[in-house]
Amino acid sequence: MLEILKKSATEQSNAIRNKEVSAIELTRASLERIKSVDEKLGAFNSLTEDIALETAKKVDEKIAKGEELPLLAGVPLALKDNMNLIGSKTTASSKILENFVSPYNATATQKLLDNLIPIVGKANLDEFAMGSSNENSAFKKVHNPWNLNKVPGGSSGGSAASVASCEAALALGSDTGGSIRLPASFCGIVGMKPTYGKVSRYGLIAFASSLDQIGPFARTVEDAAALLEVISGYDFHDSTSLKLPVENYRNSLNNDIKGMKIGVVKELVSEGLTDDVKKAIENAVETYKALGAEVVEISLPNLKHSIGIYYILATAECSSNLARFDGVRYGHRTANAQNLLEMYCKTRAEGFGPEVKRRIMLGTYALSSGYYDAYYKKALQMRRVVTEDFIKAFAKVDALISPTCPNTAFDLGARTEDPLAMYLTDIATISANLAGLPAISIPAGFDSEGMPIGLQIMTPQLTEAKLFNLAYKFEQAHDYYKKLANI
Ligand code: GLN
Repeated sequence: MLEILKKSATEQSNAIRNKEVSAIELTRASLERIKSVDEKLGAFNSLTEDIALETAKKVDEKIAKGEELPLLAGVPLALKDNMNLIGSKTTASSKILENFVSPYNATATQKLLDNLIPIVGKANLDEFAMGSSNENSAFKKVHNPWNLNKVPGGSSGGSAASVASCEAALALGSDTGGSIRLPASFCGIVGMKPTYGKVSRYGLIAFASSLDQIGPFARTVEDAAALLEVISGYDFHDSTSLKLPVENYRNSLNNDIKGMKIGVVKELVSEGLTDDVKKAIENAVETYKALGAEVVEISLPNLKHSIGIYYILATAECSSNLARFDGVRYGHRTANAQNLLEMYCKTRAEGFGPEVKRRIMLGTYALSSGYYDAYYKKALQMRRVVTEDFIKAFAKVDALISPTCPNTAFDLGARTEDPLAMYLTDIATISANLAGLPAISIPAGFDSEGMPIGLQIMTPQLTEAKLFNLAYKFEQAHDYYKKLANI
């Protein structure tokens, strides 16, 4: 069965339709695979075996009756453990929510269930999606399937590792500053953050609401495009979700890209990147030229401010969003408090990990009355300035390319003592969140140690079709995506 688990989601879906395998068999195979390799990887916080098998059974019943199947029906998927799924715990990898049972389905989750996609488990993450290496989980670290001594990237490290190791063909993650694209890049798979508002955030545990966006992980661009079709669309429950029809991205994947103009982001290729990553980007430029695109260099002069802006806005928003975890309404409550204030303080002191506490303190400070104008308001103004850089760039080019990260996956523990070094890991990804842009990371080669390198492509808001088209053309021009982690 490992053979079929290694196939793409589209191929798995076809195999089910052609009755080469039943949905139940495939789901069982995925669960078996998790049980045999996940002790090494730590990609799952919990398995949702009953839910997965019940969904798979419905697929097989439909096939027996000769009924039409919805897109990706029967293809096993891992759900990041910060999205609600009735019948599962949603922990956000935090002690404060260790025993929190999902009260309702997230909209994205509901859409998966409606499409009869078996959800095999809840994927590990950095606590409350805060991190770049998945070492901030309160429960266990995730290991990179290509080399178990390395990090998988974060915060959706479990989602990425599960797809890269063929535990599941698909996964959902959330991306606030790069949490889908970075782990996709470190694990050699495809990860995509849609335009802000494309996918409902209802039922996603909020980190920084003006930046958070749910998106797909897969091993091919076609699979990622299909999964985005499944989860996107307007939702009454999320006031920031866009009232736009769901598009079919698969139809335009193979469009000719001759004459398209692509900008290489100057600030992301000029310093700080490793030689191997640099070579991969040069190779990507050559590929696009060979495909008939025109490639130019484009400057985003304010990109250098994006990490500073992000760590004010994201921490400010999280300090407010996480105020609800007070021991009264959700999750953990301290066992020994003499009065209400002590109960709040002890509950939060016991429940949150060090990175979450650091961010709440930073964010509370930035929002405090004496510093609001100097930090929070200034950061909002600078967010607009960064967005303007993109508007100017996209007046000249159709898309921007860069490395997803200046380096490949680093060793576990290498950056945990230095929060700033960890924050700098996201230099290439954060600005797309500030500007609300769609962005994707796709496999673009390997470094001298055999670790995957990711290419990031960004396009203007709501041009996902073009983004997938450009990604697909690159993917098909190489066979990087065919090489799988050997675990
Ligand atoms: N690594 C970034 C952070 O730590 C982004 C995380 C994310 O996108 N959720 O905040």
